Amino acid sequence: MRAQQVRAGFVELYGTEPEGVWSAPGRVNLIGEHTDYNDGFVMPFALPHTAVAAVSRRADGVLRLHSADIEDGVAELRLDDLAPESDRAWTAYPAGVVWALREAGHAVTGADIHLSSTVPSGAGLSSSAALEVVVALALNDLFELGLQRWQLARLCQRAENVYVGAPTGIMDQTASACCEEGHALFLDTRDLSQKQIPFDLAAEGMRLLVVDTRVKHSHSEGEYGKRRAGCERGAALLGVDALRDIPYADLDAALARLGDDEEAVRLVRHVVTEDERVEKVVDLLRSGETRAIGPVLVAGHASLRDDFRISCPELDLVVDTAMSAGALGSRMTGGGFGGSAIVLADVADVDTITKAVEEAFAAAGFTAPRVFEAVPSPGARRLV
Ligand code: ADP
Ligand code: MG
Repeated sequence: MRAQQVRAGFVELYGTEPEGVWSAPGRVNLIGEHTDYNDGFVMPFALPHTAVAAVSRRADGVLRLHSADIEDGVAELRLDDLAPESDRAWTAYPAGVVWALREAGHAVTGADIHLSSTVPSGAGLSSSAALEVVVALALNDLFELGLQRWQLARLCQRAENVYVGAPTGIMDQTASACCEEGHALFLDTRDLSQKQIPFDLAAEGMRLLVVDTRVKHSHSEGEYGKRRAGCERGAALLGVDALRDIPYADLDAALARLGDDEEAVRLVRHVVTEDERVEKVVDLLRSGETRAIGPVLVAGHASLRDDFRISCPELDLVVDTAMSAGALGSRMTGGGFGGSAIVLADVADVDTITKAVEEAFAAAGFTAPRVFEAVPSPGARRLV
């Protein structure tokens, strides 16, 4: 249905049939926050929300881009003019992918692209990675580049880091490119090795809700950079390449070495305990103890709030309200300072929890949140 809509949109814009239609999902991270730039573990799964792109090749060095969701005409760019940080508009995401592919030596000679996305933008659910990955997969197929999913993810990360100019880790793009339906992706961000962990909540009478707070506090980008730099400083003080290299069993000794460097202590403690929490969730899911992941999620939230200090009143309100209303677990997800939180709950409690969160937001004078169920969905794929 959506594939047909996007195909029809392409035909209307460009006057010919596209060569194909592809989709790539947004993601939500179950556990493993701010670990991906510390070479650590993450565990995202794909949302049912996707970016869908209809794409045809061109041979003349021209890239034409159009989004059904942005009120603007077709952007026409020359491949030879693509340069990092030259574009502040949405077009930087797909153009950045083309730039990254070409810079890596891949023969991409131009394209016509029309896309549309149902991934909420700016909600911490990786609408940007969905855009990048859908374009990368389409070009990989059409130009027969033969790149593997993890390689596409790396190139998309490079597009976002260098071309767009946004410092992000590798999780979002890998999730969009590599997730599988009914599974969460256990990803080691150091070597990109991955394991698909069955995560079928419906079969066990549970649901996972995403609560998009619809706020994004303006200092979030600067704070992300500060946390990243703080983690690098912590690793340097401890003489390791990345905080991933501090085993959980050695945490107390590491913290003792940091002495009264209070900031380093907090950041290191979050990252090392968060990696441990990811491994714990993997163990619990593998042994069928899904309900038991709830307290691990809550501990993760406390660590992000108190040690990493990237939560905000809206996210804390979701977690506190959901837990009081009977949730099994809840935590903020994504970069922080707004965006979304997740709630794990028994089916029977979903309505009560949703209502409680909505009422708490109204009582606090916050913008009404958007609440939806997240079912682990397929990763990027060709639709037509
Ligand atoms: P997130 O990835 O958490 O949603 P980002 O700030 O990384 O937030 O990416 C959001 C940006 O991605 C938007 O500002 C816009 O430039 C681009 N984007 C997302 N969805 C679309 C869309 N449907 N059409 C065009 N651009 C989009
Ligand atoms: Mg993003």
